[in-house]
Amino acid sequence: MAAQNNLPDLLRVYYQRLFPYNDYYRWLSYGNGNLFSRREFSFTVQDDVYIRFQAFKNLNQLMTEMKRLNPHKIDIGAVYNVPPTEHKYETKFFPVEKELVFDIDMTDYDEVRTCCSGTDICNKCWKYMSIACKIIDAALREDFGFRHILWVFSGRRGVHCWVCDKKARSLNVSARSAVAEYLQLIRGGAYMKKKVKLPQKFHHSVERALEIIKPVFVPMCVEEQNMLGTEENMNKFLEIIHTEEDMRAEVKTLLHKYTTSKARWEAFDQYYTQQLQSNSKKWRTRHLIEEIMIQYSYPRLDIHVSKALNHLLKSPYCVHPKTTKVCVPFNPKTVDNFDPDTVPTIQTLLDEVDAYDAKELARQKEESIDVRRIRDYKKTSMNKSLHIFQEFLRNLEDSNRGEKIAQSDIKMEF
Ligand SMILES: [Zn+2]
Repeated sequence: MAAQNNLPDLLRVYYQRLFPYNDYYRWLSYGNGNLFSRREFSFTVQDDVYIRFQAFKNLNQLMTEMKRLNPHKIDIGAVYNVPPTEHKYETKFFPVEKELVFDIDMTDYDEVRTCCSGTDICNKCWKYMSIACKIIDAALREDFGFRHILWVFSGRRGVHCWVCDKKARSLNVSARSAVAEYLQLIRGGAYMKKKVKLPQKFHHSVERALEIIKPVFVPMCVEEQNMLGTEENMNKFLEIIHTEEDMRAEVKTLLHKYTTSKARWEAFDQYYTQQLQSNSKKWRTRHLIEEIMIQYSYPRLDIHVSKALNHLLKSPYCVHPKTTKVCVPFNPKTVDNFDPDTVPTIQTLLDEVDAYDAKELARQKEESIDVRRIRDYKKTSMNKSLHIFQEFLRNLEDSNRGEKIAQSDIKMEF
């Protein structure tokens, strides 16, 4: 890839002219510079040299150091009890807070997606990310009451979710584990064929997830991903219902009576439902259809990332070193319209700035008006993501202000 060869040069321009330092600082300081100065940043610089425990006193130092070090990758860690740069001199050095984070990666969907595998993604498999985003976002808001949630494209094949409410940032490891495990329905590694077991009565969060999955399951999983379309895919499916040993042969014969994935699924659905209603056969589960739907589409979470307080996660507005795409925030409400293919690379952004400037210069000559100073990012397709980021920041700051007023009211009462 040509872009990779001159990546250091492109990054230099990106950090000089496009990186949104002000908003970035607004976010990570949460209205408190002291919090910012104790935050760990890790940089991967040229030749894959990895530097941990970086920290910056303020916005100015952050800007200066980022421009100087020109990181190929930026990871964000926890806020520590002392500035991480001093960790060698402190006998007691420990993380005190961090956003609650979720990492969802397309490679964990290789057992269910058939359009691509490994690091590849396309618009078809991006739909899994869309489902993941909707299910996790709804659960975080409705079941846990979180409000300040930032969703970010990871630059290549996944998404990151940053829960930034004060109460989320101060969760301890066991509380983080509890949230992560609550959201995890897919269990077991490659050797576990059936990965979902629902209880007799669904939890309301499962109910809600199914409402999100059901309308898209047939067009997306059954048809587009061809869930039952080939011999190999049918065998995978039959393995999932292996607990129903005596039924498996019957289902196999049934599936082979039809030729398309959709017809096979409909036949199976009908067959299973009829048997349940007539009680003619004893199925071990009454929710096999729902369990299959969840196994084929429910979010795969890397819950170790969510559980640990000191785990690092790639930063928003970092540039993915392989794709050179910018890790832009996106709106979970319109995640269906998000297209990873159209996310700008640094080169695109620089071209956009040049095109804008050339056009503006021509216009100014024509109308003989003064040069208008516009920030470079506003001339690019990065602007849209910044609107999303800034709206998130405004809501965060409003809550902060509300909390401060409430606190001072309490003080006045005493
Ligand atoms: Zn794909």
